[in-house]
Amino acid sequence: MTLCFTGNTFKYEMENIVRLFFPLQKFQYAYEPDTLPEGDLVWIQRQAEADTQLTVTVRRNGETHTRSSTLPDIQEDGPCEMELGRLLYDLLFELTGIRPQWGILTGVRPVKWVQQRLAAGRTEEEIRRELSETLYLSESKLDLALQIARAQQEILADDQPRDYSLYLSIPYCPSRCSYCSFVSHAITQKKALELVPKYLRMLVKELSFTAEIARNHGLRLRSVYIGGGTPTTLTAKQLKQLTDAIKLYFPLDDGVEYTIEAGRPDTIDLEKLQVIRDAGARRISINPQTFSDSVLQAIGRKHAAEDVVDRYLEARQVGFDSINMDFIAGLPTDTYESFCSSIDRAVSLQPENITVHTLSIKRSSNLFAEGHEPEDYRPTQQMVDYAYRTLTAAGYIPYYLYRQKNTIGNLENVGYALPGHFGRYNVYIMEEVQTILAAGAGAVSKVVLPGEIHRVYNYKYPYEYISQFDDILARKESLHPFLERLP
Ligand code: SF4
Repeated sequence: MTLCFTGNTFKYEMENIVRLFFPLQKFQYAYEPDTLPEGDLVWIQRQAEADTQLTVTVRRNGETHTRSSTLPDIQEDGPCEMELGRLLYDLLFELTGIRPQWGILTGVRPVKWVQQRLAAGRTEEEIRRELSETLYLSESKLDLALQIARAQQEILADDQPRDYSLYLSIPYCPSRCSYCSFVSHAITQKKALELVPKYLRMLVKELSFTAEIARNHGLRLRSVYIGGGTPTTLTAKQLKQLTDAIKLYFPLDDGVEYTIEAGRPDTIDLEKLQVIRDAGARRISINPQTFSDSVLQAIGRKHAAEDVVDRYLEARQVGFDSINMDFIAGLPTDTYESFCSSIDRAVSLQPENITVHTLSIKRSSNLFAEGHEPEDYRPTQQMVDYAYRTLTAAGYIPYYLYRQKNTIGNLENVGYALPGHFGRYNVYIMEEVQTILAAGAGAVSKVVLPGEIHRVYNYKYPYEYISQFDDILARKESLHPFLERLP
């Protein structure tokens, strides 16, 4: 499909809206074309005469459809871009029957959008009106965004400008899931396995360097999050080496939330759980994704659903009192019924947190390479709706939300928790309200200043992280001037 632009360069927004309807479509682009190309196309026109004439044309399977509208003569791009977005959405809805529930709000953080308006003194009523009339959000997504914005208020109110979180990346997994798009390395590969000890030594050095930066700037640690990958891919001894270094360099008092993703049950045993618990981490993730063995097989997992339950019970035995379980709606071969029974099973186990993701088919995943494309987004939407109904009825509160590109039906990921078990780090990171000092391959540090976020990126792959380590430290040094500006 070709995206053509005349009198404007609204490529990013328009492409995002077209993707809501054709998620895996590849695009070519034509700017100010003299003649329109052959084949399927979307043509976005802005013509300034006495008034501003806006037109959207879609040619699909040989048929051409057009929508247009006129705005008074205006110079700013914003209102034109918004109106063109609405014309495009209306036309594509008419042609496909698909009505993306988040309307033309294509960003990954819709709740942040709501929070900013609440902070600016807008009433819920005004926000509702803007979201539904201008951005076309459905009533249910509007309710969800506002409910989550309210749930986060206490955590956000408690956040101070010099608070920070520490994130550590362990980019290793026991094998690669079919939907994975992370840089995570399957540790079964000999080369990857050999690098792990060196990777950990470097990571410990980066931790010491990071702790010094935090001390020099008088920052207060609020949470530690070890993610990946699957951190428990490390051996018990390696996990101890890492958690000992954290204990040595950082002040882990009672007010610090401490989370380690255990993720895959095939990486967990009692010894590792004990190391994590002894290190002071109270929060852990053990992620079923589904309780169907056949779906697990279809996504490349090499364990049975019951293994998750066994590891979960072991984690309870070791004393974890804040356990998260992740699920994914829309997995290949999963059905509405089997998804619902996965959620029901989770509720019967009563983990304190349940996170419901929507499958996102990223270009770097095996699923994309295999050409997996769900024919219909509606069953996935029903799954997400079922999860909301069932979890809220069971006392779980939705408290953070984010979206990814290329999710089925442009749906969202939602973190639910029982009262008193909200993960503060999840709110900090999703709403981008707190400085994050991050260490390890692929980690991104962020200094959050009023109205501005400064990011520093580490190299993605462990071999680059090791070979370019001096550069990583130099990049971290570049945080200083921004940290100095923190109020
Ligand atoms: S567990 Fe997560 S990071 Fe690891 S391969 Fe699977 S999706 Fe990727």
